[in-house]
Amino acid sequence: MLQQTKVKTVIPYFKSFVHKVPNLKALSKSNEKKILKLWEGLGYYSRARNLHKTSKILVKKYKSQIPDNFEKLKELPGIGDYTANVLLALIYNQPRVGLDGNVKRVFFRLFNLEITNTTNLFKTKRNADLAEALMEFGAIICKPKDPLCNKCKLKKFCLYYASESKIKSNKKIKIQSKSYDIFCYLKKNKKQIALTKNNDLGFLKKFNLPKMKASSQKNKSWKFLCNYKNSISNKKLNLNLYYKFSSKIPSKYSWYSLSKNREFIPSFTKRIFKQISFLYQ
Ligand code: SF4
Repeated sequence: MLQQTKVKTVIPYFKSFVHKVPNLKALSKSNEKKILKLWEGLGYYSRARNLHKTSKILVKKYKSQIPDNFEKLKELPGIGDYTANVLLALIYNQPRVGLDGNVKRVFFRLFNLEITNTTNLFKTKRNADLAEALMEFGAIICKPKDPLCNKCKLKKFCLYYASESKIKSNKKIKIQSKSYDIFCYLKKNKKQIALTKNNDLGFLKKFNLPKMKASSQKNKSWKFLCNYKNSISNKKLNLNLYYKFSSKIPSKYSWYSLSKNREFIPSFTKRIFKQISFLYQ
């Protein structure tokens, strides 16, 4: 009944079926019409017909027992690899797993493993419980959508969980971009720029920089040169570069050559030099 059908849908049909057909013998002796009537509404009627045929074979050929052999089981109507594996695991505690989408997903997420053969995949004293648990785990915890990783006991060694946590933590520290205006005092004929170590930006402290501040619209006395992006440590900066030719500079600024740098110049400032150099070409 559960082939292609949800447990919730099956429950009332199963209850009424086992009430009217309580065992294998009763099933084998029922006529097909009765079985199909009990199945009415559940769909996939070939399942009901196969179940009925199988019950007759089991009673006749196997003394009302379900065979404990994979090949023999597969000869029965309606029983394929999956059902044969599940029956052998659940009834005979054989080390087999019913390989459905849920179980495949669990292995893939846990170990990045695509399994095709389920025989002897694990051997425990409780193969039946393991087979059952894997199916339930895939259906209830490690669901196709939104798996319940936080409640999952296996998360410590789950590869999927590790990669998802990495992605999430990367998302958490997603760096915000901030805009700054950079104002360069330049000496017209000397290829020089005014720099200061006294910026109050909160970063690049004590480095030689032009005047720099958070972006605003009030830069009318400055000429706009370009906009570019730069990253420093955990900051992404969106930079607007302005300039002005002047022979005077504010106090605490000094002139630096754009081509010959005797003092250490951070790479952040060197990029500014590069942009400014175009003005002198
Ligand atoms: S941690 Fe998440 S993805 Fe990994 S097995 Fe558990 S529920 Fe599935």
